[in-house]
Amino acid sequence: MLLTITTTYQPATDLGYLLHKNPARLQSLEITGGQAHVFYPEATAERCTAALLLDLDPVGLVRGRGNGEGFALEQYVNDRPYVASSFLSVALSKAFGTAMNGTCKDRPALPAEALPLAITVAVVSAPGPDWPRRLFEPLGYTVETETSSLDPTQPEWGNSSYYTLRLRHDGLRLQDVLTHLYVLLPVLDNDKHYYIDQQEAEKLLHRGGTWLPQHPERGFITRRYLRYLAAMVNPTLARLLEGTEEELPEPEVSTVDSASPRVEGSEQESTETVSPQAVLPDEATRGLTESTVQQPRLSLHDQRLQQVAHEIYQLAPKRVLDLGCGEGKLLRLLLRQPKIEFIRGMDVSHQALSRAAQRLHLDELSPRQRARIELIQGSLLYRDERLAGFDAAALVEVIEHLDENRLAALEAVVFAQARPAHVFVTTPNADYNQLFEKLNAGEFRHDDHRFEWTRAEFAAWATGVAERHGYQVRVVAMGDEVEGVGAPSQMAVFGLA
Ligand code: SAH
Repeated sequence: MLLTITTTYQPATDLGYLLHKNPARLQSLEITGGQAHVFYPEATAERCTAALLLDLDPVGLVRGRGNGEGFALEQYVNDRPYVASSFLSVALSKAFGTAMNGTCKDRPALPAEALPLAITVAVVSAPGPDWPRRLFEPLGYTVETETSSLDPTQPEWGNSSYYTLRLRHDGLRLQDVLTHLYVLLPVLDNDKHYYIDQQEAEKLLHRGGTWLPQHPERGFITRRYLRYLAAMVNPTLARLLEGTEEELPEPEVSTVDSASPRVEGSEQESTETVSPQAVLPDEATRGLTESTVQQPRLSLHDQRLQQVAHEIYQLAPKRVLDLGCGEGKLLRLLLRQPKIEFIRGMDVSHQALSRAAQRLHLDELSPRQRARIELIQGSLLYRDERLAGFDAAALVEVIEHLDENRLAALEAVVFAQARPAHVFVTTPNADYNQLFEKLNAGEFRHDDHRFEWTRAEFAAWATGVAERHGYQVRVVAMGDEVEGVGAPSQMAVFGLA
């Protein structure tokens, strides 16, 4: 089994930093059933290829699979050593786990870079030739497959169901590519080498949470990933979908100033019976349910966005920044406010930005509306001239996605360099977490949260920032307040003093 990843990003050898594997050395690790080797067939500044080779023992693999499952010679003749399967996923997470989590100690900014990438998987087994395309094209890849006839002298036998898979992407984070391969290669193969339990559903929600809900084949992917275990498939799909809330398409941006709440339609999986429970969308990857507080009509996150948008409108700003804009939910509310002349949304994630462009139907806007909004890719941890000259900036549920020790960098970028007249920062209120039934003490609401602050911690940070940079600040509760623990979320509103 051979997988190669090639980039022409300059310098291409940065791939070695990203993968945490030195291009000059062959590195081998033990995995279930054999060994994985990582090496670089080419490593120049212009072009660099990393290869992951699995060396699996076919006999060892089939032994212990239980009786009667295979045919007599299966242990000597099987495709497991050659085909991309769950073994490859395990090897990917073992060999490139740090890269998959988006961490790079030596070049901290690199994981956020969208790279041109070409991936070749020597052999995949697929239910049909169009399946690799159906799985990878919606994620922005160009997909090529190559197969051969089973026997050129027996044309009626047709083609082999094994393919060489070639994927290309013009700009994607390596982390995303590894995650897509991790989930989708075993889905193509449809034969997991280990016992499937609830952990497998958690893995899928963790690795697929950001892209799978929008994927047109999410039903197929989830069913195959969980080996058709209905007891797990339906609840998992429900949790995936609750995390996104597909919105009704709305190509024309209304010129009416409307900040009034609107209940969004949520798309349901057509082939599955989904019974959404009262889950807070933002916290959906953990399936948290509120035990003591009545579920609001609007999702918690939508309420939060309405409140931020409303606070921003009150200031009648002309130029507004949405930092860490994600899929553009706040941008959409801001666009509806005609007095705002220009809105710039920034996010580190290319994928989130392209999703935002889709959801906002940017390509269908009139030229005048189109000129009001711009999406840019960038990191809040690095000085950026494009953030200067704004009346207001929003950071909605963003800071908790950064490591706490990077907040000083964010503070410098936003409050010392960009210096918008007003800044709105929201973050979860950790005091409130005890109301979430399924959240154990010390756990966070979302897998990607690096911290969650109590009201006292957030107020201390906000006051410090204001003092250091000449702003005034007030902290407000967001959502219904509960005695003793406050509201689900909190917002600091900064204004230049
Ligand atoms: N504000 C949006 C998204 C919140 S999720 C909303 O309320 O819906 C957090 C977002 O912050 C993600 O889209 C993530 O990609 C982005 N992000 C994380 N680190 C970032 C950084 N260093 N610079 C810019 N954006 C970042």
